[in-house]
Amino acid sequence: MPEPKIYVLARPSFTNEFEAFLQGEGVEWKGPISKPAERLVEFAGRICYMSFGARQSPRTNSGYIQNLIVQGHESVLEHVVWTFLLTNVSRAFTHQLVRHRAGFSFSQLSQQYHDESEASLLMPEGLETFPDAADAWRIATETALGAYRKIISNLLSSKVSKEKLRSIRTAARSVLPNATETKIVVTANARAIRHFLNVRGSIEGDLEMRRVSKLIYSMLLTDAAALVQDFKCQHLSDGTPEVVKINLDRQSLM
Ligand SMILES: Cc1cc2nc3c(=O)[nH]c(=O)nc-3n(C[C@H](O)[C@H](O)[C@H](O)COP(=O)(O)OP(=O)(O)OC[C@H]3O[C@@H](n4cnc5c(N)ncnc54)[C@H](O)[C@@H]3O)c2cc1C
Repeated sequence: MPEPKIYVLARPSFTNEFEAFLQGEGVEWKGPISKPAERLVEFAGRICYMSFGARQSPRTNSGYIQNLIVQGHESVLEHVVWTFLLTNVSRAFTHQLVRHRAGFSFSQLSQQYHDESEASLLMPEGLETFPDAADAWRIATETALGAYRKIISNLLSSKVSKEKLRSIRTAARSVLPNATETKIVVTANARAIRHFLNVRGSIEGDLEMRRVSKLIYSMLLTDAAALVQDFKCQHLSDGTPEVVKINLDRQSLM
């Protein structure tokens, strides 16, 4: 099975407009060295208390964000948003993904507007090591895809309206398996991503979910490590990844 892929389409930025604001207020912000997403979160947090200038604590950016997380002041993390494309993922996976309502937006390949006759079928990783089960899987999924093509070719005539075509594909797609490959664009804020990683990142029996969790975690680790400082990626005994949450210690606040 090809592994899930992620394409980061948009990442947080932080303009210099805040400087004009601070100047107007007559205060300074000794900006820490950090990435745009981290800086924006810190700025938003500091606005809550106007803790600039003399009111600025000597915390690092990472320490500042750690404090927000430990205090549960996580709405501040909603200001930073990533947009990414996931491919080589199954419909079974995206069905679970789109259950996440808060802070997520989705745009997924349509099975009504897109012809799925050449769709890839993604065999769950590990199944290939059980030849009989893998054969059963191949037969079932190829039969389903064959039925899809047959339904399309039976119902499709040369002149067909857009809505008729939709109804034909609607009928045909009903036989497509959960293993059908799909593509989905996701926009999510850091708070929503953290919740996703927390509940989905280490489900032992769901390798596809764990692989995607690792991709999303790595995206945040690259762009804003402070926002996922209480997560880590580790490997199970079979070498597959999991993303786990670590408890931040209130005492260790910098
Ligand atoms: C191990 C596991 C097993 C699962 N098994 C099943 C299953 O068998 N069947 C099934 O249908 N689903 C199942 N799910 C899906 C699960 O019930 C959630 O729908 C999914 O994980 C999204 O989580 P969420 O609602 O916390 O996330 P989001 O929708 O992103 O919401 C984030 C948070 O916002 C708050 N929130 C969002 N909406 C509301 C609301 N309407 N009211 C109050 N608070 C809200 C909650 O605090 C929530 O945790 C499973 C999930 C996991 C992780």
